Amino acid sequence: MPSVVLKPGREKSVLRRHPWIFSGALAEVRGIPEDGETVSIYSSQGVWLAKGAYSSSSQIRVRIWSWNPEEEITPHFFKERIKKSVKLRDSFVDLNRLDAVRLVHAESDGMPGLIVDRYRDTLVMQCLSWGIERWRDVLSDALIDITGLNNLYERSDVEVRTLEGLEARTGLVIGENPADLINIAENGIHYLIDVRRGHKTGFYLDQRSNRQIVAQLAAGRDVLDCFSYTGGFALASLYGFANSVLCIESSDEAISLAKQNVSANEMNANNIRWIQGNAFQLLRKMRDQGKYFDMVILDPPKFAATAAQTERAARGYKDINLLGFKLLRPGGILITFSCSGGVSIDLFQKIVAGAALDAGVEARIVQRLSQDWDHPVSLNFPEGSYLKGLVVYIE
Ligand code: SAH
Repeated sequence: MPSVVLKPGREKSVLRRHPWIFSGALAEVRGIPEDGETVSIYSSQGVWLAKGAYSSSSQIRVRIWSWNPEEEITPHFFKERIKKSVKLRDSFVDLNRLDAVRLVHAESDGMPGLIVDRYRDTLVMQCLSWGIERWRDVLSDALIDITGLNNLYERSDVEVRTLEGLEARTGLVIGENPADLINIAENGIHYLIDVRRGHKTGFYLDQRSNRQIVAQLAAGRDVLDCFSYTGGFALASLYGFANSVLCIESSDEAISLAKQNVSANEMNANNIRWIQGNAFQLLRKMRDQGKYFDMVILDPPKFAATAAQTERAARGYKDINLLGFKLLRPGGILITFSCSGGVSIDLFQKIVAGAALDAGVEARIVQRLSQDWDHPVSLNFPEGSYLKGLVVYIE
């Protein structure tokens, strides 16, 4: 087996079971590993540490599969990992009662680079690393085998694949093509999911519990759902008897599906409106027009994928949160999110605090939010906790 040798001192993170080895940590590569091939990892003193998948063009040069020297990286290994991943979900919720659930959450489930979501009887996979790419057929068969489902669709059309030197790929892997729109029910609300063209694998499953919180807070309020996509929070607000809901979203396609979602629930469409456009400009315009709301939801796209983009991202968050606060009536609630890996919860809270100060509001955090339970976080991989949110009450 080809192997890599770390520079002195760089074994620390491997010993703490962090699954990533960056190119800068490597002293030497022995043999000529192919992309995705399993390599042994040795410390500078020649001690065997772990085994993982090699990736020649990624900054993350090796992603670790196992710290156990006895464990062979074979089809059996991946079958067991998927079984464990499904078992975790099964022990929290009766999976038969959930229409949509994340079954595999990459590094946090011991499979760096693999995402698998289920929408009713369709599995949707994303392969984001060379290691997963190499084992894709084995993983696909195992997924079908273990879940007992028949249909697997692939959405490996994510930007991070280019960092790995992988091309985008989408399409049917096993079984039958998914319906144009899959109708899922989540806590009493129906959503139509476009697994072929929707964001991620079609839906923001990670916001499930936060949608419920929004529904609980919405009664009687005028709600602004900014970056509304297909209306996840907007529908939750209507379901929770909001007085009115205004959505801001730049994508026409997302707005059109959001409108279909309202119809799918037989909700009163008179209480909901959409504005297509750029949130940064529209929020400013509404502030200048003296518009006010009782609840403002800010769920922007990722402003910083990496730490290098943090500063620019911080300015973006500050800007929209400041405007969000300005648009609230006294007694209003700001529900604000960041899904940027490069922005920590501490930094996010500081940015929101700065925004409240500049907006001249007295603000308190009432609740902290995160990704839902089926997106677990391995304690060895804090990066897995990417979604952070704050529920902020203003006087
Ligand atoms: N809140 C949504 C997910 C939001 S994802 C949910 O829970 O389902 C971010 C959304 O912001 C995407 O739909 C994207 O099209 C939209 N978007 C990106 N940049 C934008 C901008 N400058 N103004 C308005 N919408 C934007």
